Amino acid sequence: MSFCVKCGKDTENTINGLCAECFVNGRKLTSLPHHVNVSVCANCGDIKYREKWVTKDLEEAIEEAVSDSLDIIKEAEIISIRISYFEQERNTYAAAADSVLDIGGCSAEDTASTLVRLKNTVCKRCSRQLGNYYEAILQIRAGSKSVSQKTMREAMNRAEAIVDGQSVSNRQLFITKTEEVPGGIDIYLSSISLGKTIAKDLSDTYCAETKEAAKLVGQTEDGQEMYRVTYLVRLPDFRAGDVVQFEGRYFKLTRISGSSAKIADIMNFRDRAVKRSDIPSIKVHERSEDLRDATVISKEKGEIQILSPLDYSAVDLRIPDDAEIGETVKVTEIDSVFYYVP
Ligand SMILES: [Zn+2]
Ligand SMILES: [Zn+2]
Repeated sequence: MSFCVKCGKDTENTINGLCAECFVNGRKLTSLPHHVNVSVCANCGDIKYREKWVTKDLEEAIEEAVSDSLDIIKEAEIISIRISYFEQERNTYAAAADSVLDIGGCSAEDTASTLVRLKNTVCKRCSRQLGNYYEAILQIRAGSKSVSQKTMREAMNRAEAIVDGQSVSNRQLFITKTEEVPGGIDIYLSSISLGKTIAKDLSDTYCAETKEAAKLVGQTEDGQEMYRVTYLVRLPDFRAGDVVQFEGRYFKLTRISGSSAKIADIMNFRDRAVKRSDIPSIKVHERSEDLRDATVISKEKGEIQILSPLDYSAVDLRIPDDAEIGETVKVTEIDSVFYYVP
């Protein structure tokens, strides 16, 4: 058993010859610097945390900045720390860290305070973006005048969704700008790989024709050749669901991919595959959104009777034997005759 050199009390453990009470008495256990800086991107609101730009709440960033700079004497073990703060003036927060510590089996409390100053700056991504940095241009074009605005917008949304998805794990991926141009949209992208990924996605989704061209634009800081790549994506006129003409017959276009299309004959409902090289000769007869609904009056195996959408007369239509028929069906008109669209 030893004893405290100050108060003389017998104690199990002494710290620098003192009992825990005498050691703690009047001593600063925790300390904070006069102020702590937190860098905030003035453009996107992201915060620099441990030398990296991250998306996080300001509240969380302030608390982390305080707890990261809190200094605790080595003799203490942390039981709990509570950080509080209030905005003292614009971009300056008065913050306090209330700590509960264990020192040689004796619990002690201490408070340290600091000022958290928000520093407005621009993160690397935004500085590139604001500087109009780009490595690739994705040119989305309509293959013909009749490609709907809707398809154009949908392709644009797909491109944006890909960028959003990839930028979560890589902050250097972004859309620099988008421009509407005659016949389509130009999307400027921060990376060549992003351009390639989107062009491939649109090609697979719409069976779009794609071309790429690289241009040497200079050298990088470390002397590498720097290229800019333009990806041209020409969206075809047709989409899955449309009634199309192909080799003199009418089909429903059931599916398209980057390599082929599947079509179902409107007259006999037989499926056919169209290979990629033949796809450009597909012509739209009626878009899926323009197909008319006809009310079903009666149904039998292989045949239904509908009300003509033109004059409400009764019309017989052939249907596939296994067709599931509801109260209405989609029909298309070919040479003044209605056909069931599967
Ligand atoms: Zn003592
Ligand atoms: Zn930013």
